[in-house]
Amino acid sequence: MGVSGKTKFLLLFLRISTKWQMSIREEISFIFKNVPLSNKGKRRPCYLSLPTVYLDEWRLFIYKLIATLNRQRQEVKAVALAKIRILNVDLSTGGTNIQELDEKISKRYIGGRGVGTYLLSTILKGDEDPLSPENPLLFATGPLTGTTAPTGGRYMVLCKSPLTGLVACSNSGGQFGSELRRTGFDVICITGRSDSAVYLYVTDGLVEIRGAAHLWGLDTHETTDSLKEEIGSDSVKIACIGPAGEKKVRFACIINDKHRAAGRSGVGAVMGSKNLKAVVVKGSHRPEPHNRDRFMEIVKKRLEILKSNPVTGQGLPSLGTKVLDNIINEHGAYPTRNFQTGVFEHTDEVCGEALVEKGYLKKNRGCYACPIKCARVTSLPTGNKGEGPEYESGWALGAAVGVEDLIAITEANYLCNLLGMDTISCGMTLACAMELYEKGYIKKDELDGGPALRFGSSEALVFYTRQMGVKEGLGKRLAEGSLRLAKSYGASELSMSVKGQELPAYDPRGVQGQGLSYATSNRGGCHVRAYMIAPEVLGIPEKLDPQATEGKAQWVKIFQDLTAVIDSMGMCLFTSFALGAEDYLDILNGFTGHDYTMEEMMECGERIWNLERLLNIRFGLTADMDTLPRRLLHEAMPQGPQKGHTVRLSEMLPEYYKIRGWDNDGIPSSKTLERLDLKTV
Ligand code: SF4
Repeated sequence: MGVSGKTKFLLLFLRISTKWQMSIREEISFIFKNVPLSNKGKRRPCYLSLPTVYLDEWRLFIYKLIATLNRQRQEVKAVALAKIRILNVDLSTGGTNIQELDEKISKRYIGGRGVGTYLLSTILKGDEDPLSPENPLLFATGPLTGTTAPTGGRYMVLCKSPLTGLVACSNSGGQFGSELRRTGFDVICITGRSDSAVYLYVTDGLVEIRGAAHLWGLDTHETTDSLKEEIGSDSVKIACIGPAGEKKVRFACIINDKHRAAGRSGVGAVMGSKNLKAVVVKGSHRPEPHNRDRFMEIVKKRLEILKSNPVTGQGLPSLGTKVLDNIINEHGAYPTRNFQTGVFEHTDEVCGEALVEKGYLKKNRGCYACPIKCARVTSLPTGNKGEGPEYESGWALGAAVGVEDLIAITEANYLCNLLGMDTISCGMTLACAMELYEKGYIKKDELDGGPALRFGSSEALVFYTRQMGVKEGLGKRLAEGSLRLAKSYGASELSMSVKGQELPAYDPRGVQGQGLSYATSNRGGCHVRAYMIAPEVLGIPEKLDPQATEGKAQWVKIFQDLTAVIDSMGMCLFTSFALGAEDYLDILNGFTGHDYTMEEMMECGERIWNLERLLNIRFGLTADMDTLPRRLLHEAMPQGPQKGHTVRLSEMLPEYYKIRGWDNDGIPSSKTLERLDLKTV
């Protein structure tokens, strides 16, 4: 029987491939280097050095064959797990390569946030424009991502933030992170800018850059559905941007699995600046623990702790994070109408309990390997459905803008998810705009016919949320974030932000340690760098006086360092309501086979924190940016249990610098850098 030309070509290709015995790294880089990228077709034929004429017919078959060959090699590596594997993709040239991180670096930085920050420090010089091709975008998993560790499905997105100009490091759950780890890559590092819209398709050890012109303009749900249909698989996991990312809204986020967000600091705008619409992953390598039986024992014990804890076993599963609305409001620290007060008179209408009573909550849902399942699956009488609101989103689109209409709040939340926008920055930018309007800075004729920007207006909430996401009318100015907006009216004090990022849902005039945590956060206004609400309001792990300043610096430092460890491991911070540092140490050592001591593990967190600080200094951070909006420092809380209080930051900040081993200008001393092996950064 005769052999056709195409079959001969295939056999020749396979023979060459086998003869050369190329490692997967060489093979992929060979394939990519030899195929010029084409922007004409719907897809880019990038992974085979074959003439385009053969690709349409043979590409799928050959692709599967190579994937099978590579899978055998990869499985050996996946079990060893000692090395962190980075897939580098340059969207400007289409070039790719695979890099293995030195084991010493992996151990020093753990993974995820730590390794991502280390990589940023090796790439960024400091003066890069965040929306330029020079700004890398990293998707980074931790050693526990994709394992059976409780909540072990988290990943981080890192880059220089277009909102703050500082380190952006955004955490997300869902299923995407675990699937990414299964491809055999721990980190994807994307540099450059494609000259047309593309998406990445990453499978077992392989990557393809495909055209995405047909997806540009679609919202995050449409994009996800279209990609699944195009690829012909429902099991691929997708992280993508919506119109907000495409239009480079400064607080655009990346949405994965339709409802989970790498939300803060504008990582979606950076993705949009690269003309990268989505990253699709599908893998089959299961990360293997160093000692499976031992690790299973460790996991079992922690699952029991999480299930029996009242917060992680009952509160979060039944009411989600919205269990906090009433607690924080009763404490008098529920920021209302752009932080003008700390008590919202309509909390009963918008709290987690109301979501249940009004019948909008349908069920709870969890991210990968999560026993807590805090996510809210909701549907509204309007016929719309989705996920959320969670506590921060419900507050930012509710009390922060004075809106008591839970339907409008939820609709605005759905809109943020579809358009791909951070709910906190969106709501707080709108809150700032409302105060600017009510105080006469924004004039009626600037509204372009839109509704009056009044606190409490649900019509304005939904209208301007959409305008921001698509950058139309006044939305173009709102899309710059609250600080740039307020500054443009000469009223920067009305932006409730730190380092340019909008503050979340706790008024620090009622929680002093949280004030210090906000002021020193490496990514600007943020509650998940050191969640001082736990000890100061909830009494976890012990109750602290929320108005005391003494000793808070030490607490903030420990929380910041431990959070850096948890983020780097690939677990969810919410586990820390029930688990302590010893539990994380056990899980980390149990999986990796490392022998970190408690001191060493906490030192990793401290190293990561200091490296973020050094990077920020490289980007232009100065000590005077470690502060809070004037309102919180000088305007006393006007009502409620915290009436009369301001944040006494000056009583905590010098002590914090001292404990951190930083000088009076907030710069790590050479002794500190030496101790943390950061001298060469
Ligand atoms: S606790 Fe909530 S956010 Fe964290 S992993 Fe579980 S479902 Fe996701």
